[in-house]
Amino acid sequence: MSLLAVRDVTRSFPAAHGGEPTRALEPIRLDVARNDFITILGPSGCGKSTLLRIIAGLDKPTAGSVTIEGRTVTGPGSDRGMVFQSYTLFPWLTVAENVGFGLREKGVPQARREQVVAEWLDKVGLAGFARHYPRQLSGGMQQRTAIARALANEPEILLLDEPFGALDNQTRSLMQELLLGIWERERKTVLFVTHDIEEAVFLASRVVVMSARPGRIKAEVPVDLPHP
Ligand code: ADP
Ligand code: ADP
Repeated sequence: MSLLAVRDVTRSFPAAHGGEPTRALEPIRLDVARNDFITILGPSGCGKSTLLRIIAGLDKPTAGSVTIEGRTVTGPGSDRGMVFQSYTLFPWLTVAENVGFGLREKGVPQARREQVVAEWLDKVGLAGFARHYPRQLSGGMQQRTAIARALANEPEILLLDEPFGALDNQTRSLMQELLLGIWERERKTVLFVTHDIEEAVFLASRVVVMSARPGRIKAEVPVDLPHP
């Protein structure tokens, strides 16, 4: 059984002043198995973010359903970890507090929280930065923090929306290697949105190709992983 199942999902946005609604997504069917690394590739405006936001529970489909391990998604949940392009760390919290935020919400005791946070800071290469604030970090380091924050909660699936789109080329390569390493070692399931074909093909075990007007899946292409 699929870990994530998207079934006949559509999304239309009503027109602002009458007229035709925007059909952002035609019926979408997508299956993600445990330990897949899938990239969703397509041009700007093809509905990648809309699809990911629906899977994240941040937007509702006009029709259709999303299930995770058979449970219907009705809103955000700790079974999904999310990383966005623009840094969405809490600026008033330290790196460690950001990473531990979800654990605190879940009521995980402080000693255990500190242990998990330290482990994840180490895994993303930020040991020693626990007490820094987001504004003191480079873009790459902020995204390392965002990845650690998403994974510290032990989600079933990690969702990333153009997470490295605002980084310079060298930092982007480092971050791609970091994410691949985490995916391999920790046996995570990853769904990664990008409009960059090189990134999509480099990272994934399967590329889902979308086209625009209306947004739909045109092909699903298995690819070789970079580290066989
Ligand atoms: P992508 O992530 O592939 O660039 P999006 O999912 O952001 O594409 O957008 C898909 C389509 O839906 C676009 O035509 C966009 O203008 C439209 N759209 C997205 N969000 C909204 C919204 N909140 N209201 C109206 N139209 C939207
Ligand atoms: P990242 O390394 O997160 O991809 P940058 O390459 O922009 O981000 O790093 C900016 C600066 O921060 C670099 O000069 C580097 O020396 C420092 N830096 C980044 N990550 C670490 C780290 N894990 N430990 C120590 N210094 C770091």
